[in-house]
Amino acid sequence: MTVKILGELKKLLSLRSLQARIFIIVLVVGLIPSLIMHHGILGSYEERSVQNRIATVQNQLMIVGNHLISNNYFHTKPEGYNSSVSREVINAELEMISNLYEGRVMIINSSLKVVKDTYGISTGKTIISEEVIQCFHGENLFHYDKEHGYIEMTTPIIDTSDSSGAIVGVMLTSISSEAIAATLEVLDRKAAILGNLIFVGVVALALVLSVVLTRPFNRVTEAINEVNAGYSNESISVPDYAETVKIVEAFNHLLSRMKALDASRQEFVENVSHELKTPMAAVKVLADSLLSQGDAPAELYREFLVDIASEIDRENRIITDLLALVKMEKKAQELNIISLNVNDLVELILKRLRPLARKKDVEVVFESMRPVMAEVDEVKMTLIMTNLVENAIKYNKEHGWVRVELDADYQYFVFKVSDSGIGIPEDSLAHIYERFYRVDKSHSREIGGTGLGLAITKNAVLMHRGVINVTSVEGEGSSFTVKIPLTCALGTS
Ligand code: ADP
Repeated sequence: MTVKILGELKKLLSLRSLQARIFIIVLVVGLIPSLIMHHGILGSYEERSVQNRIATVQNQLMIVGNHLISNNYFHTKPEGYNSSVSREVINAELEMISNLYEGRVMIINSSLKVVKDTYGISTGKTIISEEVIQCFHGENLFHYDKEHGYIEMTTPIIDTSDSSGAIVGVMLTSISSEAIAATLEVLDRKAAILGNLIFVGVVALALVLSVVLTRPFNRVTEAINEVNAGYSNESISVPDYAETVKIVEAFNHLLSRMKALDASRQEFVENVSHELKTPMAAVKVLADSLLSQGDAPAELYREFLVDIASEIDRENRIITDLLALVKMEKKAQELNIISLNVNDLVELILKRLRPLARKKDVEVVFESMRPVMAEVDEVKMTLIMTNLVENAIKYNKEHGWVRVELDADYQYFVFKVSDSGIGIPEDSLAHIYERFYRVDKSHSREIGGTGLGLAITKNAVLMHRGVINVTSVEGEGSSFTVKIPLTCALGTS
């Protein structure tokens, strides 16, 4: 269990892992809104509280201001009903406000003289304050000093008895904002507790999601590892996400290709063993039958030895063809390219094969449309041409013919071999390039075929980036056409 948790943590520490990225994304998406909400809510609470407090105090001050005007507070000489009694009442109102809001109220007249200070310190003094002067000009200001815990504001005292509404005095008030700060502190503490709970919740959610969401990918890895380790040979299935389905499909495709390759390799090995064992078995039968006849005549020995030699030749041919094929597959990229006169090469090959044709009573004709120079591998070209012409002679009828044609355009040269032979059945046409495939096994063996010739030929053609095609009518003859680029540069483009 601890190993598993350690493993998950290790994955989380690696930023390249999907799990780590999901974890970080969920964490960020979960925490940022809660942080913004925390600061936003506390900030707007503070702003609203300050505004409310100012509005409440301003209201009360306005009422006191009206009393001041109605009682002619600013006139030193008692006029009308400005009596010391009403002055006392107003002062008591002011004291009450300053006590209620833990603050100080100063009343300043139009000559900037402090008429009343609830602290009693500045009464009679002149005050030069920007806020006060601005208030006389009709601008109501306030200042919130969070650090020192007070709000300062100015309130105009408007002469309501005068229709012009002149400002005859200003109340400069500072009140404590401690209550707001205290509430803020409580809220902040609660928000911090809530924030911590949210943090723990979001971390847990991020962990769970990062593990759960990446689990299908882990399942894909596990399934592939199982196939790798050989526990399972079946195609795998992880249908959780469209992405895993795609990965798994691609893997299954690869798996089936590998299986097919493995099967074909196995089949090849089986075929090779079978093909190599057949001549050996024949030799063994011939030798055994000679040995069983103690006094067999010399002619019989001779006859049997000729058969044994021919089986050994056959074995040799198979091994030579196999080696040629294997060598070609191993060195698939290696071509020994030279500039070659193809007409001369065809002439040479036909010269070599004429004795075989004569033996079979087959007429071989060569039609060359033009001289052809090509950049090709001479050995592989020889293999291609020899195999095709040899097959055309081997699988021919008596008094048959073989026509070899050579032509070229500015890009390719075309080598075509047609014969009047036995032809190839339609359903065999798709298989003739397979290793060891023969249309008629016993007939092919009789005439010395190994079933590897066309496989070698096709390989060599493909190495030159050429194409090989066949058309055939059973009983009438076949025609093989090879098209090869004149230069390697053309082939590789
Ligand atoms: P093999 O060594 O048996 O000739 P190949 O690979 O050269 O092997 O040819 C495969 C099979 O294709 C042959 O066994 C034969 O049945 C058939 N085949 C090839 N060329 C011809 C042809 N020109 N006419 C008729 N059958 C052919």
